[in-house]
Amino acid sequence: MLVAHHILDKEGTLMPYRWPEDTKFTRITLAVEEQWCRTCGGALSICDHRHHRVFTLNGPLHLVCKLAHCPTRACPAHPQTLSPEAETAVAMPWWVLGWDVVCWLGQRRFARHWSVGQLRAELADTYQIRLSADAIETYIHRYQQMLAARRQAPGQLAAAYADVESVRLAIDGLQPEKGHETLYVVRELERKRVWFAEPLLSSATTEVQQLLVQARVWAERLGKRVRLWMSDKQDAFVRGIAAEFPGVPHRYCANHFLRDVAKPVLEADSRAKVKMRRTVRGLRVLEREVVSARRSTDLPGLSLAPLEERRDTLKHVEEPQDMAARGEAATTDVVLDYCAAVRGILNDDQGGPLHPPGLRMAEALGEVQASLQRNLEAKKGGLLATDSRGWPDTSTGG
Ligand SMILES: [Zn+2]
Repeated sequence: MLVAHHILDKEGTLMPYRWPEDTKFTRITLAVEEQWCRTCGGALSICDHRHHRVFTLNGPLHLVCKLAHCPTRACPAHPQTLSPEAETAVAMPWWVLGWDVVCWLGQRRFARHWSVGQLRAELADTYQIRLSADAIETYIHRYQQMLAARRQAPGQLAAAYADVESVRLAIDGLQPEKGHETLYVVRELERKRVWFAEPLLSSATTEVQQLLVQARVWAERLGKRVRLWMSDKQDAFVRGIAAEFPGVPHRYCANHFLRDVAKPVLEADSRAKVKMRRTVRGLRVLEREVVSARRSTDLPGLSLAPLEERRDTLKHVEEPQDMAARGEAATTDVVLDYCAAVRGILNDDQGGPLHPPGLRMAEALGEVQASLQRNLEAKKGGLLATDSRGWPDTSTGG
């Protein structure tokens, strides 16, 4: 049983949804579950009908809710209008979306990170539910409210913590933009749940203290010992937790520590990269030399000479000096490959403070150097005897 006028006050200001003329509804009639007045015991009578049209994933529904009241004028319950409770199993009164659509929206938005545009298109294409972007945003907001209410419900919470011996709590403030109020979030780390969040205009100790009191009340209500607190070293947290949770260890967040240490690390890394780039230079000059040297050997296919001359070259293609030229071309390919690899290494800027790009750059350059060294040693051993003519030029360049 629901008392209808309370709901009307709250949601009565919303724009009604305009259904297209040809919408095909499935009609369901719902009646108030009770037959007798709770106050005087007399029979309730139907006083009105409310027509509630909603989208569900299985098509539009037309709920005909038979509203009832106590007809006895002398009964104090007489002015109240009662509404069938079964309606709320399909949708909240005055909502245009059924629970299934609201859950569908929330799951796609928050678990799959779909955008409002994507949600809108998918609802229209697959379910023929046509909504404006604002309407979708409104319902996503409602989904969040319902989710928060459910997660904070004492029964739900007690069930989630039934087999947990003690809890570990964390508090942090998130400021979306400078000058805006900061959202303080209290999380529990054992079950990884957000317990509650409050926007606070200041980070003053007294305001933060209220959140810590609330956290203590929650833990007490659950009957769980607080084993640990975790936060950054904000003054209000340090003092507040010591006051509200005497004897509970307070650890400072490693994430904040890393963030603070990241700046100097990345600055040092950036200086190291500049130094390395300065050492390994002349790459372009080397490449240009190799390419122009190759052009002058006038290999078929690479030649820019007129067709007549090229035909001349083609005739001699298998002669010994051409074989040597081909060997040299292979060598210059190797040099250009090395140049490309080194350029790739010097341009690599990826990685955070735990994997500084400069460190990776140093390692990669070391590998290139080792590779060059292996080639030089192989040459000395005579393995590259046929190509040896090409090596002195290129290795001096490196
Ligand atoms: Zn009555």
